Amino acid sequence: MKNSPKDLISRRGFCLCCVGGAAFAATGGWLTPRQAFAEARGLVSVIKDSAAVSPIITHRLRNNISILEGSGGNVAVLTGSDGKLLIDAGIGVSRPRVEKALAELGGDPVTHLVNTHWHFDHADGNEWLGAAGAKIIAQENTRKHLSGIQRVEDWDYNFLPLSSAGIPTEVFDKDHSLKLNGATIGLKYHGPAHTDSDITVTFAEANVVHVGDIFWNGIYPFIDYSTGGSIDGSIAAAEASLAAITSDTIVIPGHGKPVSNKAELKEFRDMLVAVRDNVAKLKQQGRSKDETVAAKPTAAFDAKWGQFVIDPGFFTRLVYEGV
Ligand SMILES: [Zn+2]
Repeated sequence: MKNSPKDLISRRGFCLCCVGGAAFAATGGWLTPRQAFAEARGLVSVIKDSAAVSPIITHRLRNNISILEGSGGNVAVLTGSDGKLLIDAGIGVSRPRVEKALAELGGDPVTHLVNTHWHFDHADGNEWLGAAGAKIIAQENTRKHLSGIQRVEDWDYNFLPLSSAGIPTEVFDKDHSLKLNGATIGLKYHGPAHTDSDITVTFAEANVVHVGDIFWNGIYPFIDYSTGGSIDGSIAAAEASLAAITSDTIVIPGHGKPVSNKAELKEFRDMLVAVRDNVAKLKQQGRSKDETVAAKPTAAFDAKWGQFVIDPGFFTRLVYEGV
């Protein structure tokens, strides 16, 4: 199954997987993850086109909280008479399927939307949700990045600002809290991690937390140095998230299998630490980036974590940049 087209499709939690599908359509053959990533450079619009046809799968958790999987990052939904709260907005072109999935969870409108960070596969849907009346809440750096042209070097792509309807109207620096549908919802900023805008969203009574792209469940993560991300910040945020949860907590990752837990988050943190140490040793020995990739510092982890779009070589490069 590893590396098969079916495997890539089944991990549609990450938007770049759609590039594999799009590339398939364009070339008549499946690409390896590495090729798919290369194709992804400058092809964000292709990702959006592909998201337009991806199915949305609903996972019902507890205390009226569900996850919608299939439009970029994993989207959490809290339902109730105060209106729906969404954690992340997915990609705008998924709107018809997201609307259908939301309707199946109840007739209340979406009144609130929280962005875990600024990336388009989590915030592109802000525009239609904001226009439909949702109040958008985020860390202040998310608003900053969504308000101007934002270049992501590793995707070779310049993201344009969202229209005014998609810009968060309520921002905070460190912490924020909400009371909706009987739930106590805590928003916590983690400092520079995957970007410089990452927050976690905790539903206290349900013991559920959406940790955004601080956690990629079972796949190597992207780290966005263009907007303040780093490997050390990613490790620190994973550790802070671990310290805040119990073995009963349901953990929602930004990408990968959407219903997760503390043990899987710890496994992700341990992988980050081990790869960081291996790469740092090689860099300290004076090895170049290419020589470090050739030394395969991720080898012990590749069978599990390297079967997706951020392949071992690319992940090594991202870590090398930060040690
Ligand atoms: Zn992201």
